[in-house]
Amino acid sequence: MSDVIVIGGGHNGLVCAAYLAAAGLKVTVLERRHVVGGAAVTEEFHPGFRNSVASYTVSLLQPKVIRDLCLHEHGLRVVQRPLANFLPLPDGGHLKVGGERTAQEFARFSRRDAERLPAYGARLDAIADVLRALVLETPPNLVEGSWLQALPQLLKAAGLARRLRPLGLDGQRELLDMFTLSAGEYLERWFESEPVKAVFGFDGIVGNYASPYTPGSAYVLLHHVFGEVNGRKGAWGHALGGMGAITQAMARCCAQRGVDIRTDCAVREVLVERGRATGVVSGQGEVFRARVVVSNLNPRLLFQRLLDPAVLPADFRERIAHWKCGSGTFRMNVALAELPDFRALPGKTPGEHHGAGIILAPSLDYMDRAYLDACTFGWSRRPIVEMLIPSVLDDSLAPPGRHVASLFCQQFAPQLPDGSSWDEHREQVADLIIDTVNGYAPNFRDAVIARQILSPLDLERTFGLVGGDIFHGALTLNQLFSARPMLGFADYRTPVAGLYQCGSGTHPGGGVTGAPGHNAAREILRDLRRR
Ligand SMILES: Cc1cc2nc3c(=O)[nH]c(=O)nc-3n(C[C@H](O)[C@H](O)[C@H](O)COP(=O)(O)OP(=O)(O)OC[C@H]3O[C@@H](n4cnc5c(N)ncnc54)[C@H](O)[C@@H]3O)c2cc1C
Repeated sequence: MSDVIVIGGGHNGLVCAAYLAAAGLKVTVLERRHVVGGAAVTEEFHPGFRNSVASYTVSLLQPKVIRDLCLHEHGLRVVQRPLANFLPLPDGGHLKVGGERTAQEFARFSRRDAERLPAYGARLDAIADVLRALVLETPPNLVEGSWLQALPQLLKAAGLARRLRPLGLDGQRELLDMFTLSAGEYLERWFESEPVKAVFGFDGIVGNYASPYTPGSAYVLLHHVFGEVNGRKGAWGHALGGMGAITQAMARCCAQRGVDIRTDCAVREVLVERGRATGVVSGQGEVFRARVVVSNLNPRLLFQRLLDPAVLPADFRERIAHWKCGSGTFRMNVALAELPDFRALPGKTPGEHHGAGIILAPSLDYMDRAYLDACTFGWSRRPIVEMLIPSVLDDSLAPPGRHVASLFCQQFAPQLPDGSSWDEHREQVADLIIDTVNGYAPNFRDAVIARQILSPLDLERTFGLVGGDIFHGALTLNQLFSARPMLGFADYRTPVAGLYQCGSGTHPGGGVTGAPGHNAAREILRDLRRR
């Protein structure tokens, strides 16, 4: 018998397991797939070509988690992109973002935007600092009952108020704006040029099935800037070997600490006896007993599929039924015979723009249209594509002279409006996405040797991402912080004693952060010490 069973070997499950094992507990991780890592894995998708299959770029992974799990000692190396973003434009122009040159680049479009850039950067950074400080904390949890039970939460809330003080009144007003305004409205307060607003506004719709003009999308923008690469705040980088290098390093740490990891082992039921979780049953009918059960799964999977409804309060079940999932993302990997030759910046030999996050969405209006089209037709004829070509930074991914590219595409309806299945459309949509890139780099279509397609339905089937939701639940105000996954259960505990959550459906949400796994382990250890 183990002390702890972790259901799911995504990166958060592994982080949680590693911390619990470090505290001396006997931990078993049960993973449904043949490989651990969840949405952070590297796989060969065509002979000789490997890539991060789903998540593809790193920034949010918490430095404390990297240190505590000794990920560098276990082989992890992250390199920064030479250029943060490259935005080719339909008229043949382009915008480069990253480092010192950004202001100069902005000035080509608007002198005023270039002048406002330092203040924008400083303000966003100050607000992101508040978020950074809260990522590894358990949010104040709303509790019913006596003042004695409520007091620790009130103190935590008071601590939160102290954290906000350095922002000043003006900064706090802006923080409130970021939780409520649209990315478009927020950015329009700062900038006037379309490409400038597009390059920043893109972060507001990544994994967010919404228009950049949808209220609340400004927060999603903020969610994408609280990370860092090797100490550089807000930067995004590449894990050598792909995102699987992160989770393989985590798995090595777990193995060193004695965690028993079983792959090809789906859990079909959580056992609950006298109101307490006592173990799980696998798809093959094997029973695993433990004092504590932790779920790395989307809350909908745990509470709707693995638990007997009778063990959950009716109002809780009702809320979970309305847990909003579906990030509207379509993901492809392509093997390339040569690098894209952009009309905006010709050349097939590696340039710094090839190592950037290449955004094919020239304006906020273009993104708004893509969302509106997706609501009506399922996807837009002019889709939003971000392309990364990690093989220019990492020669372990493709044969010499060849390349792999990640295509991450936004505003693809989680469920198609006409009721048809994504299986009927995935090839056609993949063609459209390739044609879209071809519009900017006319050698692209012919350079594609092979492609891997992940529609929202494929993401659900392969990774257990409900509705294809990359974050295990939308990052909307009613699903964040003390409300993630719902008020009263923001502390990684559930209505069932001994059953916890450690996945992205808990604070601080999705992304390869390791934070939910870290925080859940702390709460579990706290309870075990009390017992
Ligand atoms: C297409 C895509 C692109 C993304 N891009 C980025 C990015 O570039 N950078 C970034 O930081 N984040 C990105 N994300 C988000 C990020 O990858 C996820 O939020 C994060 O990996 C989720 O981690 P997790 O451990 O919480 O859950 P998951 O990774 O979802 O892990 C859950 C695990 O549980 C397993 N499981 C499910 N059901 C069962 C069961 N019944 N029994 C046993 N095991 C089960 C699953 O197989 C999976 O391994 C992206 C995600 C996607 C899908």
